[in-house]
Amino acid sequence: MRGPKLNSTVSVVKINENLIEFFKTNTRSQIRIKVNNNTIYELVNSLDGEKSVDEIAESFSTTPEEVERLVLFLEKRGLLDTTFPRDDFIQYEQFRRTIHFVEEYAISHEDLVEMWNSIRNAGVLIIGLGAVGSWVACNLVQSGVTKIYLMDADKVDETNLHRQFGYRYSDIGCYKVDALERRLKEYNKDINIFKCYEFLNSENLDTFNEMQLNLIINCADKPNVDTTSLWVGKYGMQKRIPHIIGGGYNLHLSLIGQTVMPGKSACVNCFKKTLEEENTIDPEKVRKLMVKNRKVGSFGPMCAIVASMIGMESIKILSGKIPPSNINRRGEFNIYSMDIKYKEYGRRDDCEWCGKEGKYFCN
Ligand SMILES: [Zn+2]
Repeated sequence: MRGPKLNSTVSVVKINENLIEFFKTNTRSQIRIKVNNNTIYELVNSLDGEKSVDEIAESFSTTPEEVERLVLFLEKRGLLDTTFPRDDFIQYEQFRRTIHFVEEYAISHEDLVEMWNSIRNAGVLIIGLGAVGSWVACNLVQSGVTKIYLMDADKVDETNLHRQFGYRYSDIGCYKVDALERRLKEYNKDINIFKCYEFLNSENLDTFNEMQLNLIINCADKPNVDTTSLWVGKYGMQKRIPHIIGGGYNLHLSLIGQTVMPGKSACVNCFKKTLEEENTIDPEKVRKLMVKNRKVGSFGPMCAIVASMIGMESIKILSGKIPPSNINRRGEFNIYSMDIKYKEYGRRDDCEWCGKEGKYFCN
């Protein structure tokens, strides 16, 4: 590239003779600038990377300084292509769409390279490789993450095939970690998979003490989601590792779990305390559901939606620069209406974990 190039995800619209709009298609945000010169629109559209600043200045009868001023303005607002030189990005061709997604949040080429390397080199632990965890693993590998820790003692069963990502008839009876590793490597041969053939318990997260973990995603439901969330939440707070509490299903609702950024957001214990207060009701008046033998309905598209939300959130966290969306809240996706309702949960001063007197307090 010889000169400045407009970002390929930006479209330029001439609103009228004095107003130009830049529309960022990824983030759907717009920037409007007032102009008193008709040629600015043509000049901006001519920024194709092929012409140098001097050549542009000459063809529009202006000075290189004026062009530089405009280029600087566009660059500061993230409107210029920052993906050159391409050689700075490992596997650019395979992941260029992810790189261009991240690009809208970068302010310079160096910034973008840093974000991409941060995503690529991050270590992510996914606990539980069932209906949500298997899809999350796929999302992350397809987005460019190359270091994945998989934890599950389960073996592939025929009843998993209709909704869990990547498992086939030929995998039945194999450990999920092995089957999923095979499948994920078909998407990116350069990934590193670390396998743990255990179910999560109150102690075995210590297995990962010496490993590089930048994010933990809890999709484990044995013995139940509340318990595994507390184990993961506690470990994440102790080690100050961001963690996402994966989703689940309840009747016609899908739960989109919260993101915890230690020291910056409500922790799992804050959520628990608030939920316990809200759920203080008279047990005498509650009609109990027959839970024995009850199997909640579930199918692939539903699991994939929850997993995609987690995947999106993960990439934001791993970039180190894009703020995560689901801190201090959790969502419920209604399968029938397709509405998502979020409920806010603040960080609590009286929290035994992250409150001022709490054992994992940090800011
Ligand atoms: Zn807390």
